[in-house]
Amino acid sequence: MAPGGRIYKEVVESLSAVTDYDTVTAKAEVKSSASTRATHGISSTNGVHELLECPVCMSSMYPPIHQCPNGHTLCSNCKIRVHNCCPTCRYELGNIRCLALEKVAESLELPCGFQSLGCHDIFPYYSKLKHEQHCRFRPYNCPYAGSECSVTGDIPMLVSHLNDDHKVDMHDGCTFNHRYVKSNPHEVENATWMLTVFNCFGRQFCLHFEAFQLGMAPVYMAFLRFMGDEDEAKKFSYSLEVGSTNRKLTWQGVPRSIRDTHRKVRDSLDGLIIQRNLALFFSGGDRQELKLRVTGRIWKEQ
Ligand SMILES: [Zn+2]
Ligand SMILES: [Zn+2]
Ligand SMILES: [Zn+2]
Ligand SMILES: [Zn+2]
Repeated sequence: MAPGGRIYKEVVESLSAVTDYDTVTAKAEVKSSASTRATHGISSTNGVHELLECPVCMSSMYPPIHQCPNGHTLCSNCKIRVHNCCPTCRYELGNIRCLALEKVAESLELPCGFQSLGCHDIFPYYSKLKHEQHCRFRPYNCPYAGSECSVTGDIPMLVSHLNDDHKVDMHDGCTFNHRYVKSNPHEVENATWMLTVFNCFGRQFCLHFEAFQLGMAPVYMAFLRFMGDEDEAKKFSYSLEVGSTNRKLTWQGVPRSIRDTHRKVRDSLDGLIIQRNLALFFSGGDRQELKLRVTGRIWKEQ
């Protein structure tokens, strides 16, 4: 009880300090929020929402919300970074929690942050973040693996982005026949080939092909990712095949959602893995050049 009581007292003191310290702004805020509340309930909720935005990092604040003795609030992440000095007034920060604002937040209900992308759900303030981490309308990351790419968006936007900015190969149809070539395969330990995107069943699939070290062994790996969520990815299957006359290696699997990073899929070995020696054997010739033909098919499960 004692710590709680002490914090409460400090909050009261600091609230009065705000009025003294920042009279003009405080009056203006009271006036505007009172007039909005009279006309539009939603706007006043937005006003409170702004109060819950950390003035330092601009992200939403969650308990413990801190404040300086003059009432300037900041989030717990920022509190750690500012070395006990209020970023707004430079006053010593101390250890004051803003319980009033935490309580106000608890009573708020807010639309999902991806409303503009199609989510119309409303959440209590404290469960909104958790929902947004799994919201099916949240943007996807660009599935291109050749370089770090920070572009995010919905699927149609990412398809245009892959086409326009990464110049990937786009193919229509559910069967494919691709040849992956590398002239000096023995020198290459890690490599990513150009991504191929297939349009079939009105959806898009990304075929990845890469070289890496698996333990001590150099391998190639081919796998498919689905441009959409996992529950939809599971409705499809695909097969991959490499080989030469009379010898072949096949893989049948389920495409992974691009919600799973390319690296995660690769590390889980969820695809066709070909030892380099075998891949060079399948390439024919003198085994000095990789010329691996990968054929495959995508189908919809009933
Ligand atoms: Zn912050
Ligand atoms: Zn301050
Ligand atoms: Zn949502
Ligand atoms: Zn990209």
